[in-house]
Amino acid sequence: MASLAPGSTVGILGGGQLGRMMAVSAAQLGFHCHIYAPEEDSVAAHVARQFTCAEYHDSGALISFAESCDVITFEWENVPVSPLALIQDNSPLHPSIGALNVAQNRVDEKNLARAHGGQTAPFAVVNDRGDLEAALEQTGYPAILKTTRMGYDGKGQARIHSDENLSQHWHDVGRQPSIAEGFINFSHEFSVILVRGQDGAIRYWDTPHNIHEDGILAHSMVPAPSEILNQETEARALAAKLAEEMDYIGVLTCEFFATADGPVFNEMAPRVHNSGHWTIEGAVTSQFENHIRAICGLPLGDTGLAAKRVEMHNLIGHQADDWGELLAESGNHLHLYGKTEVRDGRKMGHVTKLFF
Ligand code: AMP
Repeated sequence: MASLAPGSTVGILGGGQLGRMMAVSAAQLGFHCHIYAPEEDSVAAHVARQFTCAEYHDSGALISFAESCDVITFEWENVPVSPLALIQDNSPLHPSIGALNVAQNRVDEKNLARAHGGQTAPFAVVNDRGDLEAALEQTGYPAILKTTRMGYDGKGQARIHSDENLSQHWHDVGRQPSIAEGFINFSHEFSVILVRGQDGAIRYWDTPHNIHEDGILAHSMVPAPSEILNQETEARALAAKLAEEMDYIGVLTCEFFATADGPVFNEMAPRVHNSGHWTIEGAVTSQFENHIRAICGLPLGDTGLAAKRVEMHNLIGHQADDWGELLAESGNHLHLYGKTEVRDGRKMGHVTKLFF
């Protein structure tokens, strides 16, 4: 594809904070953004030129959205895949439907990682309640039951410590196709964040050390400690193989556990990622800007660190109420996502701190 000139329109499927930060970067490069999302109050639409509020299965709305765009991307990996075939004829879609398909299914993404030499947690497929005992025999205890599709921020998961209350755990994940996953004894969690351009060139950001609380990312820090950096080369090599296999264009994030036996692949996100928010101020070029550059066929920007050390702290639920105090610390970069309703566990914003 030839590169898109400023003034072109980037379509974004999904209306949340990732789309909002992508739209800000696109605007900085002189592009217009058209957001497509089913929710009326889309925080991405607040900062975009056009907004289509429609369901993902509304083929008429999708086609006219696609006709207005020069390239389309997504900020949410659970966009239903089947209607997307309709829009490909009008505009290029990056990353591809194939990448989205794999990332939507925990079994497929783990199998792809294994096929390329990656380690994953032991897992077994649980299609109905009757499969659970046999699956847990394979994984042992403790185990985590995770829905195969649509899981995020620890939602659709149940931790299982013994063979008691299994029906309750099955109920907790909504009685839907799931996987039972053996518990990984990890020292740290980290993510490989890369961008792959249309010429196949790959750049990586520094590897963040990620700390989750209640299954939700709470903090990302770079540089990571040596226990992570020792595993970086192997983890990056796997992420690059996955990107190449999927002929991936844009930002790809792969989450890993650092263990005594090396990096264990957990999951991938075919998009910009919360563990890369620090790149807005902490890297020479942010994940959002490089994603836009990649999908528009533009040269990629430098992914190097812009400070000696960077910390990103998520503001979850009422933590964002402290915005006044956060702004009073002059070194803080505060990002609020413009969400009106505060809910427990909801990501309302983040703060980035740079250390020189
Ligand atoms: P996930 O939705 O798979 O990203 O899981 C959310 C969080 O739960 C992870 O970031 C880990 O902190 C924890 N977790 C998930 N899977 C496992 C596992 N197999 N072993 C240990 N902890 C896990």
